[in-house]
Amino acid sequence: MLTIAGLSKRYAKGDKALDDVSLSIPAGQVVGLIGPSGAGKSTLIRCVNRLVEPTSGSIRLGDTEITRLGGMGLRRARRRMGMIFQEYALVERLTVMENVLSGRLGYVGFWRAFLRRFPQADVDRAFAVLDRVGLMDHVDKRADELSGGQRQRVGIARALVQQPDILLVDEPTASLDPKTSRQIMRLIVEVCAERRLAAIVNIHDVALAQMFVQRIIGLKAGRTVFDGPPEALDTDV
Ligand code: ADP
Ligand code: ADP
Repeated sequence: MLTIAGLSKRYAKGDKALDDVSLSIPAGQVVGLIGPSGAGKSTLIRCVNRLVEPTSGSIRLGDTEITRLGGMGLRRARRRMGMIFQEYALVERLTVMENVLSGRLGYVGFWRAFLRRFPQADVDRAFAVLDRVGLMDHVDKRADELSGGQRQRVGIARALVQQPDILLVDEPTASLDPKTSRQIMRLIVEVCAERRLAAIVNIHDVALAQMFVQRIIGLKAGRTVFDGPPEALDTDV
């Protein structure tokens, strides 16, 4: 589903943040991206959604070469990527349901729909994902009334409702306690399997990654230093 080949990124000042990274992630597979701070994990994820411009290399999502897209093509490609963030990035004064629907429609479309009500099909799909992430009792609560774990469930629902092909997940549990972190990781891995979604999860907690993902990619100074199943991981990577 996602194929990265020879990807490099050099920021205006500094060494290469990514140096010739290649990897391929099939549908349904969750990859845990690990490595020390500064290894290039965020840069890799941001190259895929083009928040960061790659210096060279290829990124294909299905048949689409992401690195060559601009304008409308890029917006369309980004809709196929569900983003999940460490700090959730919810709109605090909107309800759970409104936050989830904002993912379906995109920011501009969201406000347009806000004025003329949401299409029923979108509402139905939002209910379905909210049910799946266990938030049916909270759909009308404001985002700022929720616990951290509930907030991340909204983040997951918002990513899923747009029916993406891949999830790009940046430190989803960094603001959560250990038990909630495990619940959130389990949920991400399960929904990816159910929906045959590929996922890259940038995860600072190696033990947590080993517990839940089928495949770990280790980065160090912008290079791939490990790619394999969790049980093969050397502890010093
Ligand atoms: P990680 O997510 O693994 O902590 P990053 O991708 O954030 O790593 O950073 C990789 C390297 O790129 C680091 O050396 C970091 O300082 C550098 N870097 C990240 N973002 C920028 C930027 N916007 N401008 C310049 N250097 C950056
Ligand atoms: P994280 O620890 O989550 O990787 P950082 O604290 O490293 O985040 O980076 C926070 C922000 O600063 C990011 O947007 C990153 O791109 C940017 N950044 C990181 N390193 C540099 C750098 N050397 N120069 C400029 N911007 C940077």
